[in-house]
Amino acid sequence: MRYVFAKHEIPALSVTGTEELFPVHRIYCVGQNYSKHMREMGSNPERDAPFFFSKPADAVCRHGSNISYPPATKNLHHEIELVVAIGMKGINIPTTEALNHVFGYTVGLDLTRRDLQQEAKKKSRPWSVAKGFDHSAPCSVLHKVDEVGHLEQGKITLNVNGEIRQQGDISEMIWSVPEIISILSGYFELCPGDLIFTGTPEGVGPLNRGDILEGEVEQLTKLSITIV
Ligand code: MN
Repeated sequence: MRYVFAKHEIPALSVTGTEELFPVHRIYCVGQNYSKHMREMGSNPERDAPFFFSKPADAVCRHGSNISYPPATKNLHHEIELVVAIGMKGINIPTTEALNHVFGYTVGLDLTRRDLQQEAKKKSRPWSVAKGFDHSAPCSVLHKVDEVGHLEQGKITLNVNGEIRQQGDISEMIWSVPEIISILSGYFELCPGDLIFTGTPEGVGPLNRGDILEGEVEQLTKLSITIV
């Protein structure tokens, strides 16, 4: 097959213990999945069905990246999240089988242009420009399930310039990983290469040029990035 111009490079993440890369297919994100974060965003933490948004696959960037402060915002926010990597196709996946579809786990940042998101909420407009901008999904290296098992509990933290900004435990998620996979697969056929950002604990806040971010989920490799 020939193309009218050179094919785009496939966005990919490193995997621990191998030279092989994980090719990213799609990025899905869960909105408001920790009750204290819902309260800080002005919502009521009732167990309404989870809602989803997405980012383009090439929004991923790797551990150690320098990320340019994005255009069109004065309020770039950090959201540290556990990220699930899908390794097996599936549609309408039952909760009891959901974990069989997981390839592994990593730590990610759902970078958000909060001012644009607030405007979109007010005007009932889509979140794409607030959430799906270039380099808005930095991720650490992936750990395979064989190595770390399935993560159900463990501290999730974000430090900015050495100070703790976000802290929680992934056991506090309103919707668990199997539930998220099951519900999301009712909307989309999940494919190997999909990433799912599972929501952020409380403490989201603004970032500035020069900030050094270190995100961590217990058992996983830290994510470090710098805003430039
Ligand atoms: Mn988020």
